[in-house]
Amino acid sequence: MAQTSVIDDAALQGVIDALAAQGYAVIAPVVRDDAIGLEPISGIGDLPRGWSDVQAPGRYRLEQGHCDPGARFGTTVGPQSWKRFLHPPRQVLWTARRQADGGFAVSSGASDTTEGHAETAPRRQAFLGVRACELHAIAIQDRVFRSGPFADPGYAARRAATFVIAVECGQAAETCFCAAMQTGPAASSGFDLALTEFPERGEFLATAGSERGAALLASVPRRPATDEDIAAARATVARAAAMQTRTIDTTRIRERLQAQPQHPLWESVGERCLTCGNCTMVCPTCFCTAVSDASDLSGETAWRVREWDSCFTLSFSHLHGGSVRRTNAARYRQWMTHKLANWVDQFGTSGCVGCGRCITWCPVGIDITEVAGAFTVAEDA
Ligand code: SF4
Ligand code: SF4
Repeated sequence: MAQTSVIDDAALQGVIDALAAQGYAVIAPVVRDDAIGLEPISGIGDLPRGWSDVQAPGRYRLEQGHCDPGARFGTTVGPQSWKRFLHPPRQVLWTARRQADGGFAVSSGASDTTEGHAETAPRRQAFLGVRACELHAIAIQDRVFRSGPFADPGYAARRAATFVIAVECGQAAETCFCAAMQTGPAASSGFDLALTEFPERGEFLATAGSERGAALLASVPRRPATDEDIAAARATVARAAAMQTRTIDTTRIRERLQAQPQHPLWESVGERCLTCGNCTMVCPTCFCTAVSDASDLSGETAWRVREWDSCFTLSFSHLHGGSVRRTNAARYRQWMTHKLANWVDQFGTSGCVGCGRCITWCPVGIDITEVAGAFTVAEDA
């Protein structure tokens, strides 16, 4: 099954066409509103050719001139993650409609009178351009939603209808730290097909990761990969790893965070944190939701909606008598300690894959690597 070939731009278009012919909506990075968004595409011409993203704490810009002008995957990760297609931001769980006899008829999912993503009949979707860190994020959400006590049949159905094409990074943003989290930049598993781009020659090293990936690869023009092609792909990924300047020392980070819930660092971060929740919205692994009920003005139709929630809101931890995390410091501590420590207890891995989104999209530039590093220093002092 592990079949490695070289394909060119025309063959990549052939991959997209073949997936479309099989009924897949092909979703890929596109330039949208001066950022990289993830949207359905019809061809390679929709990809962000020649664009790079310049990222820093609280800063994101798309610019030309930083990568090969032919690069179609010269950016890293944008504000959206694939999470939105597997675990949608808003889902109608059920709809109730008043009947002539005064009772209500309840049906699952959305109706034509409600908004939202229906639970039934997920569309076939192909993700093109999934980075290595995001493969790990999808694997983390799989563990949460496909097994265990909180398995979500809607997620499982969408996941089963998803074809994954990974693209290994040839560059890193200033905010990336996947190498430290051992989630990238090489794509090792969790894909149907993995590509490494050679933009200077309009080609890709293509590796099948599943039977259906091998079948798709076999359906387009290709040539066998040479040792030079494979070495060039490894050099591409090594360059992306070497560009990363941020890191988290994961040695004993779980114990360090769990042992210091009263440390003054939480207060100093809490003084900066706006509790806006951006970090949780952009994070590809955060999965918390809230459920609410609503009805139309006539009272004829009601529905129950599940929407992304954030542990940074006061209402998130509202119990009898009020919120149990009243301060910004308490809410930041909850988020970061869950990500890097308690997640390991719950799910067996870190909840952070090092994508750097929470650093870039934090309006005040709070940097999870810097805060984690401060705890390391605090313990060592
Ligand atoms: S915590 Fe930050 S760096 Fe880690 S996966 Fe979430 S958004 Fe990415
Ligand atoms: S850490 Fe930054 S992004 Fe997260 S809630 Fe605080 S201010 Fe918002």
